[in-house]
Amino acid sequence: AAVRILKSGMRLPPLPTVRELVKLYQLQALKQLSQNFLMDERITDKIVKSAGRIDTHDIVLEVGPGPGAITRSILRRSPQRLILVEKDHRFLPSLELLKECAKPLDLQVDIHIDDILRFNMEHHIPDTTQRLHLIGNLPFAISTRLIINWFEDLSLRRGAFRRNDTCMTLTFQKEVAERICANLGDKQRCRLSVMSQIWTQPVMKFTIPGKAFVPKPEVDVGVVKLIPLKQPKTDLPFGLVEKVVRHIFNMRQKYCRRGYGTLFPPQDRDDICYELFQRADVEDTLRPFQLSVDECIRLATVYKEFIDANPDIARYDFRAQKNVPTEMLSDEYV
Ligand code: SAM
Repeated sequence: AAVRILKSGMRLPPLPTVRELVKLYQLQALKQLSQNFLMDERITDKIVKSAGRIDTHDIVLEVGPGPGAITRSILRRSPQRLILVEKDHRFLPSLELLKECAKPLDLQVDIHIDDILRFNMEHHIPDTTQRLHLIGNLPFAISTRLIINWFEDLSLRRGAFRRNDTCMTLTFQKEVAERICANLGDKQRCRLSVMSQIWTQPVMKFTIPGKAFVPKPEVDVGVVKLIPLKQPKTDLPFGLVEKVVRHIFNMRQKYCRRGYGTLFPPQDRDDICYELFQRADVEDTLRPFQLSVDECIRLATVYKEFIDANPDIARYDFRAQKNVPTEMLSDEYV
C-alpha cells in the first residue's frame, strides 16, 4: 500500500527532454518505419488519458515507443508493468534510460526490440489476471493491418484479448480514424468501419495537427479508443465475415448486391443473390455505405448457410476470373 501511495502522482527523476535525446543519439526519423515523433508532453498526456483509468496493477503495452514521449506519459500513470515493443533498435538507449528511472519507483519496464505484427502476447503476458491496455502512436504503414489482426484475436479471445476488457488507444491518419468511426450513411463509411464496429465500439477522442510531429507528416492524426464489445455482433468465423464484408464493399458506388454477387459464379449470381437478400431481409439496392453492421452480419450468415449446403461455391474466387477491374483486386481498407 505504501508503494502505491508513493506511486500515485509519481514523478520521474529529471531527464533530458525527448528532443534532446533525439539529438544526442542522432535519431533521424526513418520513413520506411513511419517514424513521426511527438515532443509535446501535453499531447502525449492527453493520448494516455484517453485510455481511461490505469490502475497500479494494470499492464500497458505500448506499440512503437520510439524515443519515448508517450512512454513517459504512461509511466506517470504508474501501471504495474509497461511492455514496450519497438522495431528500431536505435531507440534502445533512450528506452533503457526510462527503464532505469522507473526502477526505484517499483515500475517494471520490459523492452522488446521486435515487430508488433509478430509479437507473441500469450508468451510475454501469460497471466490474464491483470487488465491490459494497448496504447500507441502507430506507424501509419501497419496501423490497419495491426487492428485487423487484433480484431481477429478479439473474435477468438486470444492473444491480448483473452480478457474482454483490453482497450486499444491508438493513433491513425485522421482520414483512417474517421473511417473506423464512420456511422451508417456517412460518406467515409467503408469496410474498415464495419469490421471495427462488429467487435468494438470505436470512439474518436481528438485530433492532433500534423505540425505537432517531427518530422511533420502530410496529414493530421486522429486518436481512437477501440473498446471491445461485451457482446460482439457475431460469432461467425472471422475469415468468413471479412470475406463477405470485403466483397460487399468492393463496389462502393453500386447497389450492394453487385459486390456481394461476386461471391458467386456469374451464371447463378442473380438468382442466388435474389434468394439470399430475401432470406437476410436486406434491401439489395442499398449502397454499401447504407448497410448497418447487423445487415452485413445477416448477409454473412446466409452466405455461410449457402456454402455449408454448396461447399464448392466457397472456393469460387472471382478475382481469378478474366477482366476483373483492377480496383476490385485491391485489398485496401477503403
Ligand atoms: N511513440 C513515438 C512517438 O509518439 O513519438 C514514435 C511514434 S512513430 C509514429 C512509430 C514508431 O513505431 C516508430 O518508433 C517506429 O520505429 C515503430 N515501428 C514501426 N514499425 C513497427 C513494428 N512493426 N513494430 C513495432 N514498432 C514499429
